[in-house]
Amino acid sequence: MPQSPVPPTAQPLTGPQKALRKLGLLRPIDLALHLPLRYEDETRLVKLRDVREGDVAQVEGRVTHAEVKISGHRQLLVTLDDDSGTCLLRFFTFYPSQQKALAVGNRIRVRGEIRGGFAGLTMMHPVVKPAGGELATALTPVYPTVAGLPQTYLRRAVRAGLARAELPDTVPSQYLLEIGLDPSWRLRQALSFLHNPTPDVSLDTLQDHSHPAWQRLKAEELLAQQLSQLQSRRARDRLRAPTLAGTGSNSLFARLLVSLPFQLTAAQQRVVGEITQDIARPIPMHRLLQGDVGAGKTVVAALAAAQCIDAGWQCALMAPTEILATQHFAKLVGWLQPLGVTVAWLTGSQKAKERRDMLALIASGQAALVVGTHALIQDKVQFQKLALAVIDEQHRFGVAQRLALRSKLGSQLQEPHLLMMTATPIPRTLAMSYYADLDVSTIDELPPGRTPIVTKVVNDARRDEVIARISDQLVQGRQIYWVCPLIEESEALDLRNATETHAQLSAALPGVMVGLLHSRLPVAEKKAVMSLFVSGQMGVLVSTTVIEVGVDVPNASLMVIEHAERFGLSQLHQLRGRVGRGAAASACVLLYATGDAPRLGEAARERLKAMVQSNDGFEIARRDLEIRGPGEFMGARQSGDAMLRFADVVADAQLLDWARRLAPLMLDQHPAQAEQHVQRWLGSRTDYLKA
Ligand code: ADP
Ligand code: MG
Repeated sequence: MPQSPVPPTAQPLTGPQKALRKLGLLRPIDLALHLPLRYEDETRLVKLRDVREGDVAQVEGRVTHAEVKISGHRQLLVTLDDDSGTCLLRFFTFYPSQQKALAVGNRIRVRGEIRGGFAGLTMMHPVVKPAGGELATALTPVYPTVAGLPQTYLRRAVRAGLARAELPDTVPSQYLLEIGLDPSWRLRQALSFLHNPTPDVSLDTLQDHSHPAWQRLKAEELLAQQLSQLQSRRARDRLRAPTLAGTGSNSLFARLLVSLPFQLTAAQQRVVGEITQDIARPIPMHRLLQGDVGAGKTVVAALAAAQCIDAGWQCALMAPTEILATQHFAKLVGWLQPLGVTVAWLTGSQKAKERRDMLALIASGQAALVVGTHALIQDKVQFQKLALAVIDEQHRFGVAQRLALRSKLGSQLQEPHLLMMTATPIPRTLAMSYYADLDVSTIDELPPGRTPIVTKVVNDARRDEVIARISDQLVQGRQIYWVCPLIEESEALDLRNATETHAQLSAALPGVMVGLLHSRLPVAEKKAVMSLFVSGQMGVLVSTTVIEVGVDVPNASLMVIEHAERFGLSQLHQLRGRVGRGAAASACVLLYATGDAPRLGEAARERLKAMVQSNDGFEIARRDLEIRGPGEFMGARQSGDAMLRFADVVADAQLLDWARRLAPLMLDQHPAQAEQHVQRWLGSRTDYLKA
């Protein structure tokens, strides 16, 4: 039975309640599944003579000295003596009540990290209690939390949740045995143990999640993920979609293919074939098309659109930014308009009149193809008969937006086919096992004639040499991108950074048009800047990461990325993909600065090294996975769609395999338990997973 969520109360939520909600901890079961990050040991007292620097220790003793030091930092200094040694306690903030509790002669119990130093053993801001209280019988959990949600409050909430949650076992015993888990150990026991382990447990097995209780939780989590994806796949298989079949020699598809100025690569042909097969079936397609930057995904989308139009239906293509939508529009109009297709276009910045005209074209069905931004999914937009929705750079859209596009199909009885495109591939084996709900097509080959991009890592101290290099390129008629980082927390600072760089380059390159593009510019201005660059009049484009996705200017042959150490690996690769699109040799310069540090951090060095060593998006993805670890890797890509909190698709590949095999058996033979299992783990988020 699904557990009811916390009932909405008339009273406003308190801060901690809001924080619980923010963490998604709504139902008792959510709290029960909120597992500790680590533990503190409050089960025993230690003697000061036995502690070492770095230990988190709990000690009891007598206060032998206490003073408030005024000079320098105001602080309270207390000496604690436990007969085996002394320890200095330092407090930089303290209330009078605390000062009283720490008066000379008092016996106290303190817990904190032991540090060494001039004054011998020291603890900064230890937790202080009166001596002699009872000792804990289990390790104390430390939970992941957010500001405004203290551990003590969270611990109480979790304890209450665990007590109230219904936790019948859902996985049949024989399957638990398959992965070496003892079925007589119930889920409730495993959870209670993880929240409050007995002090005799090996902390290592808790920390690295190899303890059987952790194995149990990870297996269950993976099973929930596989079950829910399989459920949505089966639910989708019961839905109807228009069949988009039939490609005669006079079809739009055939004519488009002939009119292209290039031949499809073998990889493009293969994925076009995969899509063609899918959309010819009366079942909605859900396909992820992944291919490196520049691999040529747009033309694949255009060919799918052509088949859709051939069958008498409408196709929509949604892109995450105006600039990108503009580019797609231009490209698709160039390919399809000569063949008699009306292409409409919708964005947020459109003039009212133009927008009305476009909406009319879309509603009447006259526009067979519609290209746009999020504007496509607004209420006002009515398609006459949408059969195929293409989402470019799909990871940049939220689930709700994807759902909205799907719900645009006029008739309630049918769903559109969905093609999602991404240039941040995930390694193939991972994709296959992870997306039980998606079919994946991969373009693993670049169009011929591209010269590989040479990547160099350069210290910012040699910035002048880089600027000299820009001049050389400009003389040869080439264009240059110069990217400055954009970090959300300090937009103002970034803007200054980009503005300063723009001024510096303008001064250093007299007679050259140097443009500046950043996210705060009004859309019209962004477009104006972009079109000057696209047309070749502008030699250098200084920009924040707004050019990250999709822009296609083949004459640009040099990409400089400032503060490259601040960028993520896949982001660097995406940016670099903006050059090397023409036949000319292209280069990417990664400028780094170490700030006050003597050298770059380990992870940043690894990222830059990976960029120098590889141009291949799949290899980059693999390295990214190595450097960051899969949890974070998938997290960043999935941004909330699918969530694995505990299991790790690489390290727990064996459990994933088990979950994959078990999911269909569970759905067929134990449907009630399967449903209960999914509800427990994913609860209200299952709708989201189905998008
Ligand atoms: P992405 O996969 O990054 O979206 P695009 O679709 O923008 O890549 O394609 C990059 C460039 O390559 C475009 O200029 C496109 O017209 C061109 N292109 C695509 N396919 C081929 C091909 N088979 N041969 C030559 N050029 C191609
Ligand atoms: Mg693209």
